[in-house]
Amino acid sequence: MFHTLVNKLAQICDFEPKGNTVTALAVIWRDGRICYVFASNRRRTPALKNARIGLKAFLDILKSNLEAETRDSDEVMERRLLGEILSRNNVRVRSYLTALAKELSTCIKKCDAAGVEGMEARDAMTRLAQMLPDPNKDGQKGDNYINSMIRFIEAIRENSTSPLRRYISARAAEDDKMAKGGSWSTVRHVSGRLVAYQYAAQTPVQAHHIWADTELFRDFNIASVRSSQSYPAEALNLNPMTTEAIMHRAPGCTQAQVDAYKQHAAALQQYLLDSKLERQWKTRALDPIVHAEMLLHDWLARTEGGIQAYRFFHNWRYIGTSKPVCRLCQEYFHVIATPVRFRSGHPNTYLNWRLPDMYYVGGEDSAITTSSIERARRDWCEILGRMKGRVYAAVVQVLEEKVSDKKAHDSNTYTDKVSGVKEMDRLAGWLEHVQLG
Ligand SMILES: [Zn+2]
Repeated sequence: MFHTLVNKLAQICDFEPKGNTVTALAVIWRDGRICYVFASNRRRTPALKNARIGLKAFLDILKSNLEAETRDSDEVMERRLLGEILSRNNVRVRSYLTALAKELSTCIKKCDAAGVEGMEARDAMTRLAQMLPDPNKDGQKGDNYINSMIRFIEAIRENSTSPLRRYISARAAEDDKMAKGGSWSTVRHVSGRLVAYQYAAQTPVQAHHIWADTELFRDFNIASVRSSQSYPAEALNLNPMTTEAIMHRAPGCTQAQVDAYKQHAAALQQYLLDSKLERQWKTRALDPIVHAEMLLHDWLARTEGGIQAYRFFHNWRYIGTSKPVCRLCQEYFHVIATPVRFRSGHPNTYLNWRLPDMYYVGGEDSAITTSSIERARRDWCEILGRMKGRVYAAVVQVLEEKVSDKKAHDSNTYTDKVSGVKEMDRLAGWLEHVQLG
């Protein structure tokens, strides 16, 4: 329950789409008080302040209910919190509504009007489309707009056990088989994201009952960690790597394995892997950042008390995130063997990723010495080296599996999987060329 709560709090601070506001959050003791501390991928000072204000407003709703002589019902509390979330997340919510308006009308046209099921689905979706809140009419943060949002989310939820849901799910699964981003899968995905806000309001209400007698929602501070600075990435100045070169560099290979990898790489060329790799390499601007969860972990490790259990609420060493932890962050936490736990991860990798900054630890007189710089540099290189080894092993395994998978799947599925390989490929190339600044 506590992990879910922390993840939900991180989620409601992730105001905008596209990844900049992805947030990690922990509940710690600081200066004798509970402190909700968070970090985001790319937020400047005013945006961090805005997020702190948003989180405080949210937690204050729970606090005032605990302090009230007569407490409000859970239902009233959930609506109040949901309203707060929706008004703070209005940029993201608006992007969901725009997508939904477009794709619902496409899906309505695609319903099979010859069958009863299709007719019912069309009618249900038409009703939903008519309920779509209109930000132009009601203002984007006005009470009317928020209330119509809440009613709309409730309507989606009511449909979640209806035949409409099955109808959409079946077609969304078809969408996924062909390619990502079809109308049906967008409707399913976006509806799910909107309903997730309702869960994000329910969890803290339950939590404020469970921990009513603690300081958790009664006496707290809120703090934020600065996002990482831009860092010049040099990898893309180099020539793009080929699949064969990447496989060839896998650590600890025997000659027989190298020969086998060469064949694998050749087999993958019918899917134009190398030219896709080259295109991605040349067209993408690289601006790596320290991901939010690494930023927060790094901040905790460097400040007084570090990541020792006593520093966390109830000794629960946990960092929650608004999104599942990416593959590279998982590898990093594995390599540094942290006792802190995180939300479960996903296998995706992102090019715009980097290690936390190096910090030099001074000697007895706190002066930065050549040896302390060397030590920090050595630690940094060791982490990077171990990560590279693990990622290479994973890349080669994926490539091998794809080659052996080839016969078992039809071409669509296979092509789709190869695009995942491409992602790993680019990543491996980048890691190989990362240089110390
Ligand atoms: Zn990450």
